[in-house]
Amino acid sequence: MKKNVEDLLKAHNVSPTAMRMIVLDHLLDQQAALSLADLEKALAPADRITIYRSLRTFESKGLVHGIDDGSGVTKYACCAADCGPEGHHDVHVHFVCRNCQETYCLPRSRIPEFTLPVGFQPEEVNLVVRGVCQVCAG
Ligand SMILES: [Zn+2]
Ligand SMILES: [Zn+2]
Ligand SMILES: [Zn+2]
Repeated sequence: MKKNVEDLLKAHNVSPTAMRMIVLDHLLDQQAALSLADLEKALAPADRITIYRSLRTFESKGLVHGIDDGSGVTKYACCAADCGPEGHHDVHVHFVCRNCQETYCLPRSRIPEFTLPVGFQPEEVNLVVRGVCQVCAG
């Protein structure tokens, strides 16, 4: 287990339990976002509820964000360093590959600014680009 996982949890005011370290360590190793089912499979015999609770804690502390990629299943990926317990500041575009079905964070692709009609109050913005990823295209 890498030492930095423990430090990362502490830096986000999360007590580093063994389970949380395992879940975060696994997420940090991924290129693509993972669903709860993916994590359950990878981290067996850890149970689903415990993994889910860890994810919810990470999400509220700015370590991980949930992604609605239109598949109906929430996927999870690690946040950029500027997210913390006070909130998420890394709103970015997500990319879904129609070939491998993976969902990728594109942290350098920010969601463009847009104006809403008067009277509409946005609460969250979600931009998903579909296509073929680098791995599948190459
Ligand atoms: Zn975030
Ligand atoms: Zn792909
Ligand atoms: Zn993301």
